Amino acid sequence: MKSLKHKISFIYLVLVLMIAIVGIVSVINLYGLTREIEGLIVDNYKSLEIIAKMTEVLERQDSAILIYTNGNVELGLEKFQTNMNNFYVYYNEESNNITEIGEREMVEIIGEHYRVYLDSFYQLEKIYDTYPQEKLMEYYLEEIAPKFFQLKDDLRGLEEINENAMFKRKNQVVRNSQTSTKAIFLVSMVAVTGGFIISRFFVKKFTKPIEHLTETMKLVEIGDIDKRIDITSDDEIGVLSREFNKMTERLLVFEKSTLGKVITEKNKSVAIVKSISDPLMVLDIDYRITLINKAFENLFSITESEAYNKYFSEVIQKQNLNDYIRSIFSQEIARPKEKIFHFELHSSDYYFNIIATKIIDTTSSTEGMVVLFQNVTELKELEKMKTNFMSTISHEFKTPLTAIMMGTSLLNEGAVGNLNREQGEVLTSIEEDCERLSNLVDDLLYMSKIQSTKAVYHMKQTSITSIIKEAVKHFYPQAARKGVNLKVMVFDNFPKVYIDQEKITWVINNLIVNALKYTSTGDEISIYGEVDQKKVSITVRDSGIGIPEEYIDKIFEQFVQVENSDLEIRGTGLGLSIAKDIVRAHGGEIWCESALDIGSSFTFTLPLEVNEVTRG
Ligand code: ADP
Repeated sequence: MKSLKHKISFIYLVLVLMIAIVGIVSVINLYGLTREIEGLIVDNYKSLEIIAKMTEVLERQDSAILIYTNGNVELGLEKFQTNMNNFYVYYNEESNNITEIGEREMVEIIGEHYRVYLDSFYQLEKIYDTYPQEKLMEYYLEEIAPKFFQLKDDLRGLEEINENAMFKRKNQVVRNSQTSTKAIFLVSMVAVTGGFIISRFFVKKFTKPIEHLTETMKLVEIGDIDKRIDITSDDEIGVLSREFNKMTERLLVFEKSTLGKVITEKNKSVAIVKSISDPLMVLDIDYRITLINKAFENLFSITESEAYNKYFSEVIQKQNLNDYIRSIFSQEIARPKEKIFHFELHSSDYYFNIIATKIIDTTSSTEGMVVLFQNVTELKELEKMKTNFMSTISHEFKTPLTAIMMGTSLLNEGAVGNLNREQGEVLTSIEEDCERLSNLVDDLLYMSKIQSTKAVYHMKQTSITSIIKEAVKHFYPQAARKGVNLKVMVFDNFPKVYIDQEKITWVINNLIVNALKYTSTGDEISIYGEVDQKKVSITVRDSGIGIPEEYIDKIFEQFVQVENSDLEIRGTGLGLSIAKDIVRAHGGEIWCESALDIGSSFTFTLPLEVNEVTRG
C-alpha cells in the first residue's frame, strides 16, 4: 500500500467490514428469534387449537350418547357418527403436529382410550333393546362416562404438555433475545471501539508527517532553513517531504553561496577600508561609528572596539566638524564634500582635508557616511612658508620698485633732462612693466595677508545693497569710456549680512574689474543680488569674451589665466584666487558660468546665519 489514497481506502474498508459484521450478527440473531417465535406460535398454538376442538367434539359426542340413551336413537346416532368423524380428523391433525417430548405417547394413549370409549358405546347399542331406560342410564354412568372423563383428562394432559412447552419456549425466546441483545451490543461496542482505535491510530499515523511537515515549513519560513523532514513513508506525504527536503537543500546551498560571497565581499571591503593609510571612519545614519581603520585608531588614540557604536561627536569633540557632517547628511545629492579642519592632537597642529561621502544603497536611501581624514598638515605648512616667502619677497620688492617708479616718473617729466623719442618709448615700456610688477606685488601682499593665519576679519552686520552700490559707483566713468552698459539690480530690503565690509568690497571690485577687462563697446555688465532663506547670492554678469570650458574651474587657482588672453589686459592671475579665499572665509561659495563669445557670470554667496569665520 504505497499511496495515501490506498491507505485511506483500506481504513474505510476495515470500518465498512466492521459495520457489516455488526449487521450480520444482528440479522442472524433476529432470524433465530423470529424462528423461535414462529415455532412458539405455529406448532404449539396449533396443537392447543386442535386439542380444544377435540375436547369440544368429544363433549358433543358425549351429548349424542346421552340423546341416544334417552330414546332419541336416530338423532343420537347421527350426531355420534358426525362427531366421531370430526374427532378423527382432528386426531390425525394432532398426530401430524407432534413437536414436544411425550406428546406422541400422549396422542397414542388418547387414540387407545378413544377406541375403548367407542367400544363402550357399541356395547350400549347391543344392549339397547333389551335393557330398560334406567339400566341404560346406569350403564352410561358406570361404563361410558368414566371413559369420557378419562379422555378429557388425557386431552387436558396433552394440552398441558403443549402449554408447558409454549411457556418453556417463551422463556427460551426471552433468554435468547437477551443473549442476542448482549451479543449485538458487544459486537457493536467492539466495532465502535475497534473503529475508533483503528481510525485514530491511522489518522495519527497519516497526519503526523503532515504536522511535522507544517512545523518544519514554519521554521523554514522564519529563516531556519537548515531543517530536514524524516521520510517515513513512500506515499504522497513522503513524496512531498522528499521534495520539501530538496527545496531546503537548494535554499541552503543558495544561502551558503550568497552568504559566503557576501561575507567574502564584506571582508574584502573591510580590508580595503583598513588598508587605507589616511584615517577613515564609517558612520551609520544615527551618526554612530560602525568602522574605523588603524590610522584613525592611531590618530585619535582609540581602539575600534572602544569606538564601535559610539556617537562620532563623543569620539571627536569638534563642533564645526559635527555641523559639517550633519549638513552633508541633510544634503539630497550624495556628492563627496571636502573641507579643511584644524585639529590640535598630541600637542601639535594638524590640518585634515575631510572628505565626507554619503553611502547610498540601491533603493536610493542613505545608509551612512564614509569620512576620510586626508592629512594636509605638510601642505599647509608649505603653503604657510610660501605665503611668508611671498610676503617677504613682495615687501623686499616694494621699496626698490617704488624708487624705480619714482625715478622713471622723474625721467619722464624731464626733471633730469629731456629724452628723445626712442628713449621716451623705452621709458614708457619700463613704466608699464613697473606698474604691472607693482600690481603683482600688491596682489601678492594682499594674498599673503588673506592667507596668513593671522588675517584679521572685521565682521559686522552690513547692508550688502549699499556695499554693491558704493562699489559700482566708482566704475561708471570707466564703463562709460569703454561704451559698456553697467547695470545694478539690488533691493534695499535685502537682509543685512555678517561680513568684513572691506574684503567683500574687494571681491566685488575684482569681479567688476575683470568684467570690464573682458568686455568691449556695446557690451553689458549687470550686477544683481538674490536672497533665499539661507544665503545672499551676488552675481556679476558680462556679455564679454567668455571663458573656455576647460578653464572654468581652474581660474580660481593662483596664477591661472586663460591662454591667448589679450596681453594688453593681462592681470596677475591672483584676483579670483584671493576672492575665493575671502568668500570661503565667510562660509560662502564662489563659482563661474561662462560660454565663449556669449559672456561670463561670476556668483558668490554669503550665508545669512551668523557664522564664525572659517579659514580654508
Ligand atoms: P587676472 O588678474 O588675470 O584677471 P583673475 O584671477 O582675476 O586674474 O582672473 C583669472 C583669469 O580668468 C583671467 O586671466 C582671465 O583669463 C579669466 N577671467 C576672469 N574674469 C573673466 C571675465 N569676466 N571674462 C573672461 N575671462 C575672465
